[in-house]
Amino acid sequence: MILIVDDIPENIFSLKKVLELNNFSVDTASSGEEALKKILKNSYFLIILDVQMPGMDGFEVAETISGYSKTKDIPIIFLSAVNTDKKFITKGYEYGGLDYVTKPFDADILLLKVKTFYRLYKQKIELKFTQESLREEIEVRKAAENKKDEFISIASHELKTPLTSIKGYVQLLDRSLTKYKDPVLSNYITRTNLQIHKLQSLVNDLLDISKIDSGQIEFNIMPFEFSAMVKNAIETIQQTHDCKISFSKTMDAIVFADEQRIEQVIINFLTNAVKYSPDSKDVEVSITGGSDQTILLTVKDYGIGIPEEMQANVFNKFYRVEESSTKFQGLGIGLYISDEIIRRHKGFCGLRSEPGKGSEFFFSLPINGHQ
Ligand code: ADP
Repeated sequence: MILIVDDIPENIFSLKKVLELNNFSVDTASSGEEALKKILKNSYFLIILDVQMPGMDGFEVAETISGYSKTKDIPIIFLSAVNTDKKFITKGYEYGGLDYVTKPFDADILLLKVKTFYRLYKQKIELKFTQESLREEIEVRKAAENKKDEFISIASHELKTPLTSIKGYVQLLDRSLTKYKDPVLSNYITRTNLQIHKLQSLVNDLLDISKIDSGQIEFNIMPFEFSAMVKNAIETIQQTHDCKISFSKTMDAIVFADEQRIEQVIINFLTNAVKYSPDSKDVEVSITGGSDQTILLTVKDYGIGIPEEMQANVFNKFYRVEESSTKFQGLGIGLYISDEIIRRHKGFCGLRSEPGKGSEFFFSLPINGHQ
């Protein structure tokens, strides 16, 4: 609805007729005071406001309505026979007036302006509607997201207990069977242990995810020799995977960090390097100095590589490169956890990769990260 405010009834009459002929619904007020009452009570998409009125003039009405949140965005067209001086026009705009028409006005021009405001008003409504539906959609997804986090947390805790029992019983079984010295039985035990190990690292990753999401991941910062820890990680992988890992270093340092967590990152990089290189057994690990205060660890493989446009996503939670996700098992959380661990130590992770040639995953870590 449009509100016309003018103290001269004939002016209102002619303008009202023109607008109504063009299918606009129109309300009227014959003074500033009456206009204010109506503006606060009803909702208008446009106010056509005479500047010169006895009592409260048009500028005062505009100033007042610009102070209320409900009305401050209603566009105003000021109508005036006088006050055409530039400074009055400027004043009109200061009070939130969006247009200025001098009397006697051309009805066609005024109508065009009204139509433009109506179009803007409709667009604004549509935009508001879209915004609201988007906000609702975000809320729904956030519910769903919380439920998923909750499920992961419960499921991983529930899986942990029976898994620990299975591990214990297999160890007992292993001890009881050693006296038979049967290679077939011992092969079964080795295979069972390998699968238990895989299951345990999956459960641990899921537990880590819920710790990260709930802000409960804690670090035990202690000094340790960086290269000794890296060698340890390499040995662990070599015992369980068919691969050839070479190691080089141009620097070493006593690093202040959570040794187990940093080793977890290197083991993740190494596991991926082997997993995503079905046609190559070679992996190269190197330690170099990033700068005086940082140490840089790189794991290079000659595997399938990652297309450039997907590289930025690999550290995101549950992200897996589409081409490889069907061929290789995984949950897409190892790199997310690694990145979180390194970032919490004030370092950063990165990668260089070329499809078909291989990948280099690296992290840079402050030597004195606890300071
Ligand atoms: P997962 O290996 O369990 O899927 P990660 O978080 O460790 O989860 O890795 C995320 C994704 O990044 C993997 O699914 C894979 O597509 C890609 N990726 C990680 N490391 C490599 C690598 N060395 N070579 C090729 N692709 C890799």
